[in-house]
Amino acid sequence: MKGMIFDLKHYAVHDGPGIRVTVFFKGCPLHCLWCHNPESISPSKELMLLPNRCARCGDCVKACQYGALSQKTDGEVVAERSKCTLCGDCVQACPREAIQIVGWESEVDEIIKEIEKDIVFFDQSGGGVTLTGGEPLFQPQFAEALIDRLHARGIHVALDTSGYAKEDTFLKIASKSDLVLFDIKIMDEAKHRKFTGVSNSLILKNLKAINRNGETPIWIRFPLIPGVNDDPENLAQMANFLLELSQVKMINVLPYHKGGVEKFHRLGKDSEFSVYEPPSQEKIDSVIGFFREKGFKVKQGG
Ligand code: SF4
Ligand code: SF4
Repeated sequence: MKGMIFDLKHYAVHDGPGIRVTVFFKGCPLHCLWCHNPESISPSKELMLLPNRCARCGDCVKACQYGALSQKTDGEVVAERSKCTLCGDCVQACPREAIQIVGWESEVDEIIKEIEKDIVFFDQSGGGVTLTGGEPLFQPQFAEALIDRLHARGIHVALDTSGYAKEDTFLKIASKSDLVLFDIKIMDEAKHRKFTGVSNSLILKNLKAINRNGETPIWIRFPLIPGVNDDPENLAQMANFLLELSQVKMINVLPYHKGGVEKFHRLGKDSEFSVYEPPSQEKIDSVIGFFREKGFKVKQGG
């Protein structure tokens, strides 16, 4: 069983309890304009240029036999992506790791071997493994196989999900997980569609459905973005919706940051989000205070 992942992070402390390994699945059905991991959206491998590391030596251009790379007069490397075969020759030629191919196919066994190195930290910290992305449910068989293997080793599994998947697929995999980290972004359906590309009706339905099983604890992940979802109406609707769900044990308020804007450019894509700014600490504190007053346990960050 193989899956497409784009990162695997050791010693993660913001993706669930304790010290964790976070496995990043590639591919996502949403297109959130603020995405801070835009390399996660496409399910395929992609060429990524990192101009801040580039020495402008031109070795990558010489290495590319398909003519996909060139340099501007100031030495900046540009890619004609339609010509790129993702052969990786430029990556090998670059002395500065300024070109990468994002995404690789990995066997479940390979990931398990990597994770096993950290089992001692899981035991000491109450940690485990978090499946995130992208959207793990975009590769449901791979996610399920990985969860089964982790459970066979006695490892705690958190599923970080947008909740956007067929209900039976979602319930099958969410119910197998020890904790669900569930993203709630915007309550208004039309606004959700505008900013993420999809309706939130399936997402909210799935959240209610996993709550009904009454066994899997849920932590809500709320990306706080001024001008998008920090308005009192959205916060009130969200609180009212979540107050009905007994399995919601915590809300993580995740302040928006602009890291994704630069990453869109590295992938040769435009970001429509550069005009939005991160929230002030005052705004973050007021949103945290609002949810606390409603009776929720709230934490800034994951
Ligand atoms: S991955 Fe291969 S085809 Fe694509 S730019 Fe690099 S050398 Fe050229
Ligand atoms: S080989 Fe690397 S450092 Fe040299 S120009 Fe290409 S990307 Fe930049």
